[in-house]
Amino acid sequence: MIAKCSVLLLSGLALVLSLGGVGVGAAEPLQVVTTMAQIADAARNIAGDRAKVTALMGEGVDPHTYRQTRSDIALLNRADLVLWNGLYLEAQLEPFLLELAERRPVVAVAEGLPEQRLLSSEDYPGKFDPHVWMDVDLWMAVVAAVRDALIEVDPAGEAIYRDNADRYLAALAELRDYVSGVLATVPEDQRVVISAHDAFNYFGEAHGYEVVGIQGLSTESEAGLAHIESMVQMLVERGIQAVFVETSVADRNVRALIEGAAAQGHEVVIGGELYSDAMGDPGSYEGTYIGMLDHNATTIARALGGEAPAGGLHQRLAGNP
Ligand code: ZN
Repeated sequence: MIAKCSVLLLSGLALVLSLGGVGVGAAEPLQVVTTMAQIADAARNIAGDRAKVTALMGEGVDPHTYRQTRSDIALLNRADLVLWNGLYLEAQLEPFLLELAERRPVVAVAEGLPEQRLLSSEDYPGKFDPHVWMDVDLWMAVVAAVRDALIEVDPAGEAIYRDNADRYLAALAELRDYVSGVLATVPEDQRVVISAHDAFNYFGEAHGYEVVGIQGLSTESEAGLAHIESMVQMLVERGIQAVFVETSVADRNVRALIEGAAAQGHEVVIGGELYSDAMGDPGSYEGTYIGMLDHNATTIARALGGEAPAGGLHQRLAGNP
């Protein structure tokens, strides 16, 4: 008789434990997995401690060529929500994510953007340029999509998600105004960003800058010698003072440009290191979306003869350009 009672008690306890462990209750944080750190940053800002957010791609990682590891697959299979950019950014991961979407909530957060705001891809006919985070205004729409995805899988948290998203979107609006402001101080004939791959087209579109990528849209393709030659000509003819390197891309082609220009008696400097696909060190200011964009705009404005405070938007930049 006593034994029977304790079995009942135990099974009752087990029921309570399993109810507490479904992942969407207040006790257990929602498990959110993202591809890029930019998306993880948005999810953390919106979810706070209601979610545990993990990014598959760390600093210095190239999303165009990234393939899922065994531990990524285990993490993705357990996730309550998977957020990825889409628009063929995660080209190698895409088949797995599309298949996973049949079993779990998986949202391509950039794919809901209105098509008229998307630029076409130079390398992949019929596809859009995926680097939408380079335009803060466009990224704000992506942040709203992250908020909506969180609400969809965890409706009980809606008020929290909306509150936090409003606060984060206000900070992004401030960033957008700062970025536009400092970039507008660069003399018009100097508004050219030359960098290792075509990640800056949305940036150029938003701020009236000409953008030239030394490589094609994807870092998988090598730049031809003839292309480098014609770019050296452009640097010399237009008197461009600075080119930029990127944290996630090898800079040998950028150096070839500088050497080519020097051979013709035109001095070009490396205007600084820009964040394109990957953000800075986790835990640093540059390891946040706001810090990344602040760094880029401040670096570009200062290198091309514009005016921007060395410390950026809130004097938080570490390696002052
Ligand atoms: Zn890229």
